Amino acid sequence: MNRRTSKILMVGGIFIAAAAVITIAVVLITNSALSKAQYNDNRINSSSSILNQNNDSFHQDIQSQEDIITSVLPANTELEEITIKSSMLTKGNLILIDKDCKVPEEYADADYPSIYVKGSSYVVRSTEMYLQQEALDKLQEMTDAAASDGIEGMLIVDGYRTQEKQQRLFDEGIEDLVDQGMSEEEATEKTAQRVAKAGYSEHQIGLALDFDLHKINYDDFADTDFAKWLDKNSWKYGYILSYPKKAEDMGVMYEPWHFRYVGEGHAKYIHDNGMMLNEYIEMLHEKGNIIIQDEDGNNKWYVQYIKAEEKGDTKAYIPKGSEYTVSGDNMGGYILTAVLE
Ligand SMILES: [Zn+2]
Repeated sequence: MNRRTSKILMVGGIFIAAAAVITIAVVLITNSALSKAQYNDNRINSSSSILNQNNDSFHQDIQSQEDIITSVLPANTELEEITIKSSMLTKGNLILIDKDCKVPEEYADADYPSIYVKGSSYVVRSTEMYLQQEALDKLQEMTDAAASDGIEGMLIVDGYRTQEKQQRLFDEGIEDLVDQGMSEEEATEKTAQRVAKAGYSEHQIGLALDFDLHKINYDDFADTDFAKWLDKNSWKYGYILSYPKKAEDMGVMYEPWHFRYVGEGHAKYIHDNGMMLNEYIEMLHEKGNIIIQDEDGNNKWYVQYIKAEEKGDTKAYIPKGSEYTVSGDNMGGYILTAVLE
């Protein structure tokens, strides 16, 4: 007997326990129909009639989220309410950083672990390079897999940058060009095509890194076996190529060496659909939610965009009991990811 069947038996069988049922905190939706109308009929005829009398606002919440959630999740999905703290707005793996989305202040001088880890399959240009822990763990897995596929000489040349370091890189870029005889204005414009202004680089949130290979120039990186391997496999470890060729249409340089950690399911979707992170987030804003399948075609991740309440915490729903994570999108919303069983 599964959890749901036993719950129904419990509700149906014990009239005297009605008072106790009212107090059940977890949301239970018995959606056994496909259309909204059928769903509503079903709901009224089933166990929620007791809830109806007691918690109208609760039902309005369900109404507003029901369209979204039942559009992609199977019938009979039980939901559980969660609370998202507003502090999450600037945290998580899906924080968008681009020329319009600034790095949140808390990242300016963060304390992340060193990319230099003994026994790694890669070497580092400096021991003073850093990455967020989850991204670092996945980097180890990814490069171990690349090594066992025969990739040699993997090198990491940059990771997390403080606000100060990003500023320094930008200033140095301008200086170099001025030294070559360019005007200050022209040098600034040229540098901005190659280096993000301080406060607008993905490197500043500790989720991005630059690869290279021994004795290979950045310019030749795209043609290496390592670059080809990454292109084919990085999504399995939650990494995406931030600036593919199409980035050039948006005035950003193609960077075959620059990878960004976003998490496993998201990386798969972004890779499969040839997207960039900003396009993925825009798509989530538009669609509201999606299901992402794993490699074998099984529904694995439920992903939902939730606009943040203007003040305080925001309520959302997940499939009951599922493991989930929440990330801000750096645009006033959250992206909820629940792992489906
Ligand atoms: Zn980079």
